Amino acid sequence: MLIANRGEIALRVQRACDKLGLQSVMIASEPDKELWYARQAHELVVIGGAPARDSYLAVEKIVQTAIERKCDAVHPGYGFLSENADFAQAVEDAGLTFIGPSPDMIRILGDKVAARARALEYDVPMTPGSPGGLNDEELVAAAEKIGFPVIIKAVAGGGGRGMRIISSSQEMRELLPRARAEALKNFSNSDVYFEKYIINPRHVEVQVFGDAHGNLVHFGTRDCSTQRRHQKLVEEAPAPLLSPELREAIHTAALNVARSVNYRNAGTAEFLVKDGQFYFLEMNTRIQVEHPVSEIITGTDLVALQLMVAMGEPLPMSQQDIKFSGHAIEFRMYAEDPRANFSPARGRITSLKRPTKPWIREDYAYEEGDDVSLHYDAMMSKLIVIGDTRSEAISRSVEALTEYKVGGVATTRDFHRWLLTSTTFASSPLDINYVEREFSPTSLEDLLLRDIRDPLHRAGVGDFEVKEFMDYRSLKYGHSYTVEVIHRKGGFFEVTPILFTERGNLKARKRYRRASNGMKAALDSLAKEVLEVVAPEELFQGVSVK
Ligand code: ADP
Repeated sequence: MLIANRGEIALRVQRACDKLGLQSVMIASEPDKELWYARQAHELVVIGGAPARDSYLAVEKIVQTAIERKCDAVHPGYGFLSENADFAQAVEDAGLTFIGPSPDMIRILGDKVAARARALEYDVPMTPGSPGGLNDEELVAAAEKIGFPVIIKAVAGGGGRGMRIISSSQEMRELLPRARAEALKNFSNSDVYFEKYIINPRHVEVQVFGDAHGNLVHFGTRDCSTQRRHQKLVEEAPAPLLSPELREAIHTAALNVARSVNYRNAGTAEFLVKDGQFYFLEMNTRIQVEHPVSEIITGTDLVALQLMVAMGEPLPMSQQDIKFSGHAIEFRMYAEDPRANFSPARGRITSLKRPTKPWIREDYAYEEGDDVSLHYDAMMSKLIVIGDTRSEAISRSVEALTEYKVGGVATTRDFHRWLLTSTTFASSPLDINYVEREFSPTSLEDLLLRDIRDPLHRAGVGDFEVKEFMDYRSLKYGHSYTVEVIHRKGGFFEVTPILFTERGNLKARKRYRRASNGMKAALDSLAKEVLEVVAPEELFQGVSVK
C-alpha cells in the first residue's frame, strides 16, 4: 500500500495495513519527514518539497513512487487528492487499486448539481434549488420563484469555500460575477447554482459503506454542528436528539444516495436538519476526519474495511449485524489560537501532556519537539472521548481536556473547554451557527470560574456525578492549587484541594487524616475559599467540604 497522505491519517492507514498483514510505504514532504508520525513509518519516501503541489498533490510523482516501490494500491486519506477523480483514474491506469470509489462515482458526486439530480431520482429530500448551467438572469428569476435567502455554490465546489448567502435579487445580480470568478479560480469551472438557504440547521451525516457485490450498509449518524467558518471542530456519534423516525429516515436517505450511484467503499452523506425536516447536502467520497466516532459506537475498523472492500471482498456484515452502543465525541486539536479568531499558530511544541484514560482514543501526528509548519492544515490531533451515554462522554471530556496540556503552540484546547461549559452544547439544541453566536475570545477569560459550574446540571440534563479539576490561585495562601470538584446530584458540590508534595500529588482528603490541626484548619479554609469563588451564592447551602 502506498499511503498518499500525511499526519495522523497516514499513521491510521498504516495501522490498518498492519492489522491486515499488508506492507505499506508512506510518502512525506521534506519538512514532514522529521515529524513524529513520519518517524513511525515502516518505510518512508521523501517525495518533494514543502508546498503540497510538489508533494501530496504531485499526481505523477505519487503514482511513479507507488510503481517503483512495487505497491498494489494507493490510499489517499482525506483532503489532498482523496476526491480527485483524475488521480483515482491515474492510479487505476497504472494498474493499481485506488482505495475508494471508482473515478466515475467521484466525478458524479463531486459535481453538486449532478449529485442532487441522482439523489432526487431516489426521493432523497433536499432544499429546492436551481440546476447548473444557468446564466445570471435565469438564476435571479429562479431565485425569485423559490424565495430568498438562497446560497450560491460552485457546481464543482468543496471544502466550504466560495459559498455566498444572498437575500435579494439585487444582491444576487451584484455578487454573481464575483462568485463565478472565484469558482473559476478555485475549481477551474465558473458554473454556479443556488439552493434555498436553511436558517440555523444542524449538520447531521451518515457513514455509509458499499462493496463491489452490491451490498450497502450504514454505520449511523454523526452530528458536526460545532463549526467555525463552516469547518468542523467537534463531532459526535450518534447525533443526539433525533426522534427514532427521523433518524431512520435519514439512514434510509443516505443509503438511497449511495444506491443512486451503486456506491462502493466508504462514503458520507451529509444533511442539514431543521424542525424535523432534513435536506441532502452532498456525498463525500472518502474516509472522513471524524470516522473514529462511528468506529467507536459500532466497534468497527472502517479503514481496514476500506482495504478489504477495495480488494474485492464482500462486506463481512449485514445491516442487522451493526449494533450501536455508547457515545463518542471527537475534539479536533488545531494549532490555532481561539483567542485570536482561530488564526494559525505555528512553532515548536515545547511540552506535551496527553490525558491517558481507558475511555480515550487519540489519533495524533505530533510529539514534543516537533514543529507545526504553516504549509498544511493545522490539525495536530483528534481527541476522542467515549462514554456509555452522551452525558458521561461530556463529563469525561471535561477531565480529559483539563489534563491535556500543550506548550509552545496555541491550540484549540481552551475553545473545547469553553464548549464544555456551554449549555447549548450540553442540552444539544445545536445548529451550525451557535459557535459564532456564543463564542468570543472573552469567553475564555473567565473560563476557570465558569468551568466549575457544570453545564449539564445547569442545562438540567445531568443525572450523574461529574468530576472535574480546576486550577485555583489562593488569595490567602498565595500558591496555586489544583482542586478536584465533584458535582453531586441536585447541584451539590464537593471540593478537594490537591496538594503537591515532593512525593507527588496527594489528595487533601487522604492527607487530612494525618494532618496536624494547623494543617487541617488551612485545608478547610482553602476549600471554603475555593467554594466562595466557584459556587454561586444560591448553591452554597448545599455545599459540603471534605
Ligand atoms: P462544501 O462541499 O464546500 O463543504 P457543502 O455543500 O457541504 O459545501 O456545505 C458546507 C456547509 O455550508 C454546510 O455544513 C452548512 O454549514 C453550509 N450550507 C450549505 N448549504 C446550505 C444551505 N442550503 N442552507 C444553509 N446552510 C448551508
